[in-house]
Amino acid sequence: MDKTVLSFYCDDTSPYVAGADAFRTFLDFVKSEGIAGESSVILGIGAEAHGLLSRPTTDNERAYIEQVQRAFECGVDTHMELMTHGGLYDFERDCVPQDAIHEGLWLHEPEVPVEAYESYFGHVIEEGEKIGVRFTGVTWPGCSCDACTRRYRELRDSGVTHVNPNAWQALLSLATRGKFRGRTVPCFVHPDEEHYGARLTAADGDYGVYDLIANAGDWFGIWENDAARVSADYYISADGESGRIVELVRAGAPYCIFYAHWQGLNPATGVGWEAFKQVVGRVRKLLGDQVVWMRPSEYTDQKSGQSPIFGIVNGCL
Ligand SMILES: [Zn+2]
Repeated sequence: MDKTVLSFYCDDTSPYVAGADAFRTFLDFVKSEGIAGESSVILGIGAEAHGLLSRPTTDNERAYIEQVQRAFECGVDTHMELMTHGGLYDFERDCVPQDAIHEGLWLHEPEVPVEAYESYFGHVIEEGEKIGVRFTGVTWPGCSCDACTRRYRELRDSGVTHVNPNAWQALLSLATRGKFRGRTVPCFVHPDEEHYGARLTAADGDYGVYDLIANAGDWFGIWENDAARVSADYYISADGESGRIVELVRAGAPYCIFYAHWQGLNPATGVGWEAFKQVVGRVRKLLGDQVVWMRPSEYTDQKSGQSPIFGIVNGCL
């Protein structure tokens, strides 16, 4: 393929940061521009205060779910950022226990077996099914709380620097059972501008789990909704001569995937929304037929179709 694929991940999406109308405006924009990317759905975010999105209690929650149901047809994939983007949910007791380990850290804990991950992801998928939401992939819920920071340091010191491979296996098993929307499951763990690629982490025939590494940053306000962290020029300058997207297109890179956060990106309160629209407009005008927008799962589906791999691998494609 000659064209550079463009895509994005949007983290932390929920109806509480900005209402359902904001998500509808976002989807309408994506659809009308013919662009594509991903936006996460966190069914148990703030569960203590709001309950679960699978049991909506407010008009805003119901309206938000309606929008999530149409996301895919608008060009937007749906990642789980696990269940809560916080403490591990206890599906039996239907709560987040006080002392629960945080989900992102739990993905890295080396002792967790495949079955535990598979059961947990399976529960999240079932919660989605209750409201007609199908997941396409997974985003690692990052956390810098004291407990996570301390434990991540301990793990690093003992040589554990990656997600537990059992988590990849569990995702693959669920994919082969048709629990995800597609054959492949793209995952967003860490951005890496230098060593990026669609890293196949588990595969079975043309089913595959990919660590699809973002190679462009978040200059749409990040999770702090910070105006100092907004720059359309970071992606593409007004004359189309510089910026990360331009750089990757000129280098013949297979893709440019950037990431954003709903706090900064959303059209209602996000300081990055105008910049996002500006970037999309500049790309259309200045890069035109050199790029093609794709949902992350569309990209990994295509990768997998090109070269089905049998057995488990940990390499780069
Ligand atoms: Zn934490």
